[in-house]
Amino acid sequence: MTLRSALLVGLTLLCPAALAQRTPQELATALQKAARAGNVSAYRNLLAPDGTFAVEGANFAADLTRKPPRDVTYTFSDLRQQGSRAEADLTLAWTRVPGRTSRVTLPVQLVRVGEVWRYAGEAFEPIKTGTGTLLALKVPGLPERAGPLAPLLTRAAQEVKSVLGLTVPGDAVVKVYPDAPRLSASVYLSLPPVAGWNEPGEAIKLVMPGGSPGEVESETLRLLTHEFTHLAVGLAAGEGRDKRIPWWLHEGLANFAAHAFVSAPGWQAWQSRANAYARSGWISLAELADFPSVPEGRWDNAYRQGLGVVEFLAGTRGEEGPWHLAQAFAETGNADAAARAVDFPSFAALETAARSWLAAR
Ligand SMILES: [Zn+2]
Repeated sequence: MTLRSALLVGLTLLCPAALAQRTPQELATALQKAARAGNVSAYRNLLAPDGTFAVEGANFAADLTRKPPRDVTYTFSDLRQQGSRAEADLTLAWTRVPGRTSRVTLPVQLVRVGEVWRYAGEAFEPIKTGTGTLLALKVPGLPERAGPLAPLLTRAAQEVKSVLGLTVPGDAVVKVYPDAPRLSASVYLSLPPVAGWNEPGEAIKLVMPGGSPGEVESETLRLLTHEFTHLAVGLAAGEGRDKRIPWWLHEGLANFAAHAFVSAPGWQAWQSRANAYARSGWISLAELADFPSVPEGRWDNAYRQGLGVVEFLAGTRGEEGPWHLAQAFAETGNADAAARAVDFPSFAALETAARSWLAAR
């Protein structure tokens, strides 16, 4: 018995389901079955093990248990096989919002490991850049449109450094998608369509903006600076501590850092909404701390109130104030201890002071 066949026998005993995918079609069926069942381990057994996608795939799978897509269908079409690799179009259809079918088609990669096909995530076209890695989803026309974004990675990283003093690593991976539905479906199926995304260990994802070249540039710089801030904050927080920083504070810092790339009327509109929430409809910050448990109807509160509190801290505790609060959250995991680091007796006192400041702005 060769080493490989010994290994295969071992795998067969451990998880026979993982060996059923002898064709891409069987892989699609197995992915669909695991997704509908919300079976994380079965789903992860179907994924290719390498690269950024390994982290993204694991996070996608984790969502299947949180909100199993009971009716999702996985369909491969236009399959092009070359040896042990293949590319195909994957069409996903599922009910995210009751009564409405979501449907997206993504170009994807498959790899054959031994006799078994595994799913390796979306197919991308690399674009040359000075810093980091820029990848465009392999759909007609997108790699050409995304070409001019390459020099903006460096500029966005410099902005994060100058506003918050935080370093964006030079090896950041940025993936560009043509639209929000496809971006969100690549993150996980329960996510509403979003224009940008970053989670620790994953690539940054953003939607290719439309409009004139000037509009494309400023919107890309805004999205990149926002997502780079999440990345830099997560790294500065330290291994495993990113989630101790409340979600509203993550978003507040990210929007604050991107101020230079938001139009004056756009920025004023954000400020007005924060001020309005401070007067009426404020949601307790504790209820906006954990992203997966914040209902979609309260996302606007998290973004606007978060930016409002960050502006309050920058205005009353100096430029360093907002990051000091985040850093103290990362170090202590405790809201009162974090508030004391920026000279408030408790988190309740900080929240009350921020709300009064915004209500009077
Ligand atoms: Zn964000």
